Amino acid sequence: MKRTRNVKILATLGPASSDELMIEKLHMAGADVFRINMSHASHDVMRTLVQRIRSVEARSGRPIGILADLQGPKLRVGKFAEGRVEVKPGQTFTLDDNAAPGDTTRVFLPHPEILESVQPGQRLLLDDGKLALRAVSCDGKSIVTRVISGTQISDRKGVSLPDTLLTVGVLTDKDRIDLDAVLATEDVDWVALSFVQRPEDLAEVRRLANGRVGIMSKIEKPQAIERIEEIIELSDALMIARGDLGVELPLESVPGIQKQLIRACRNSGKPVIVATQMLESMITAPVPTRAEVSDVATAVFEGADAIMLSAESAAGSYAVEAVTTMASIASAIEREPHYPGIIYAQRARPEATSADAVSLAARQIAETLNLNAIVCYTTSGTTGLRASRERPQVPVIALSPMVKTARRLAIVWGLHCVVTRDAVDLADMVDRACRIVAEEGFGRTGDRIIISAGVPLGTPGATNMLRIANIAAPC
Ligand code: PGA
Ligand code: MN
Repeated sequence: MKRTRNVKILATLGPASSDELMIEKLHMAGADVFRINMSHASHDVMRTLVQRIRSVEARSGRPIGILADLQGPKLRVGKFAEGRVEVKPGQTFTLDDNAAPGDTTRVFLPHPEILESVQPGQRLLLDDGKLALRAVSCDGKSIVTRVISGTQISDRKGVSLPDTLLTVGVLTDKDRIDLDAVLATEDVDWVALSFVQRPEDLAEVRRLANGRVGIMSKIEKPQAIERIEEIIELSDALMIARGDLGVELPLESVPGIQKQLIRACRNSGKPVIVATQMLESMITAPVPTRAEVSDVATAVFEGADAIMLSAESAAGSYAVEAVTTMASIASAIEREPHYPGIIYAQRARPEATSADAVSLAARQIAETLNLNAIVCYTTSGTTGLRASRERPQVPVIALSPMVKTARRLAIVWGLHCVVTRDAVDLADMVDRACRIVAEEGFGRTGDRIIISAGVPLGTPGATNMLRIANIAAPC
């Protein structure tokens, strides 16, 4: 199966998309990577989904990426005696350490570290921002607030603290247990970390993962944006988690931040995913709104590596249609006459490394000579990432002996990954590249390709040669 689009599609699995047939339909419709949301999936469900995705992969012959998304420190208030209460803007309302049911004046906040961290003047946003409170006084055990806006609050609503740097680590006990189960499958490619705030937040998960999965930081806190360069440096990929980001920051700041983060990731050559509400109305309707089509188009024009579906594919009535719609918008935008120019204008400059110099030269030669494909041999995936960073206008075929690398690269812009043994010598390297390009449908006898590799062959990180080759007739 050959896709002609560059941008990749991530589909979240859930109640609407858990059986194998459905997963297969989503993959055929265009999903390159599947997200399992650990906020909702039990370990048994996670393992079953992983196993079903792998059987779909075996039938399709294309490497599929699997992302396990850890819930992170999602804060919630306790319960109310009546289930919910009415409040008025201007009144005081207290969050405290008393586990008794709440009333119109107070509610339990079962997070002692939060009671200690919030300072007077800071905002607390409840229920996705529908209720806004401002702290008036804090004594470490309770936070007295004034209601800024909103009129009601009910059991277990989420709490966001856009102004507070939380001293709690980003990994909760639940996340540690979930991460253990995810790593034990040995079959998950990416782990996403929610509510990353500081570069230090990545240290523990890095140590636990020990290279077995790629680490994706979800950017959904304003504090993360202040230290974004360091966070990108320590992450293997970024997700622009617009859902929580739009609660923690004014909604109108989200599009600008999206542009900033995509630029920064393209510059460092780290995959970046645009997530949440891309085709939201398709949860209940078979067609998207014009605004949603435009939102998908924007992410494609910005050169994002991947675009994501959440509830649209996990719980919606039109999961397959949502993937098909996303895929056709992406393909149409990539055929627009303005597309190459816009992508080119934001291209990152090469760093002073042989990998980048070779990637740049490969793209220029391929585009100048109108070659059919760039083929790169990549063991760890780094050469594939640097080739994609050039955002070439010809297909990039990434060949790796490691199935894990091919799966991990499924999220990366423009890469068509194929698992194959390392070449034994130069002749084998050329023959193998030509044969795979032909087999995968990217070229025919007489077409030309360009191959990048590291000599001596099989040395990771040593990309140092380019070779233009003709696809010969099969003997
Ligand atoms: P979530 O993350 O769906 O896990 O909340 C994405 C987002 O916040 O946009
Ligand atoms: Mn989120």
